[in-house]
Amino acid sequence: MRYCARCGSEYQDSVVDCTDCPNHPPLVSAEEMRERGLPLPHELDQRRFVRAGIADDPVTAQVFVDVLEENRIPLIVRPGRSGVVDELTTGNLLPWWEMLVPDTEQARAAALLEDVKVQALASADEASRAAEEEELEDERARQAAMDSSVPPAL
Ligand SMILES: [Zn+2]
Repeated sequence: MRYCARCGSEYQDSVVDCTDCPNHPPLVSAEEMRERGLPLPHELDQRRFVRAGIADDPVTAQVFVDVLEENRIPLIVRPGRSGVVDELTTGNLLPWWEMLVPDTEQARAAALLEDVKVQALASADEASRAAEEEELEDERARQAAMDSSVPPAL
């Protein structure tokens, strides 16, 4: 099985990237999930992984992901579904993403996300450019890691 390190979804081995997440991140092995401190789907315990914040657009979601990763906070991003009833999203059928972090990190994560929100409002363009650059870096790092650990699939 392969896993999305962003939303925690499980996929067949033949799938290479996550269809649910913005930018379709490449899937990783169960070992890599463990290394990053992320729960596998059947291990995601709602009492331990709690909401640190919500992003209502893909750019914000990416900025949140980047800041939490920078701060080494394990993160699951759960894509919202239309029709999910929630006090924050009732009546809102636009996509949204829920940031789930370990409860021990919740206060720190929520504060970081608040800071980022304020900054992002002040300089939305800069934030998205920075996010894209970081995504590229991540991509290269992941690619390098995969190249060295997995035989090339033909
Ligand atoms: Zn995903």
